[in-house]
Amino acid sequence: MRLFVALDIEEAIQQRLSAYVCELKPRVSGVRFVNNANFHVTLKFLGEVASPEEVTQRLRQIEHAPVALNFRGAGFFPNPRAPRIFWAGMEAPLLADLAKKVDTALSGMGFAAEKEYHPHLTLARSGSGRPRPYPGERSPEGFQQLARLVDGSAAPEFGTMTAHEFYLYESRLAPGGAIYTKLERFALGGTDPIR
Ligand code: ATP
Ligand code: MG
Repeated sequence: MRLFVALDIEEAIQQRLSAYVCELKPRVSGVRFVNNANFHVTLKFLGEVASPEEVTQRLRQIEHAPVALNFRGAGFFPNPRAPRIFWAGMEAPLLADLAKKVDTALSGMGFAAEKEYHPHLTLARSGSGRPRPYPGERSPEGFQQLARLVDGSAAPEFGTMTAHEFYLYESRLAPGGAIYTKLERFALGGTDPIR
């Protein structure tokens, strides 16, 4: 199964992100926006995993305080001239630390270690949606339009929250967009796992 580790966002922030995306959508064409219900903050993408039990067991060992997040700003990977991923930004001083713990907890299982963690919440993707293009792959015109719109406006504010848990998610790729299912929940701030 295809797995990733992520934080969920609060309803109020999801609604502000949705409203922001709703304003942009009619002004650009050919951009693959993420379903609003799918908004999340990835801590680590694992890809295909034969059995999730060891992953779960290792993630249960993580001890970490709750993580405060201030969602603000929007931008592009790898950059606004060749945009491939459109994201909402966040200030979250403890998030990289948590991502590091996830990385460390799963080390030796064959997952690629993260070079550097760039916290973001993906709002739209172009092409393969990977941070790096396939040879010959180009950003569609709609994505270039989007980059011009976003770079010409003030940084949006989406609100603050504190994450008290993170999740192991399964992703099933489907034509209408990936379908995510929470497999396990992990508490932040306590030593007792929540089930
Ligand atoms: P689709 O691939 O159909 O566009 P998706 O990207 O939402 O859908 P997945 O590819 O299963 O679904 O990815 C799940 C999460 O992991 C997403 O947040 C995605 O951005 C992130 N992710 C996927 N691939 C990678 C990768 N190679 N490196 C880092 N994060 C990744
Ligand atoms: Mg993907």
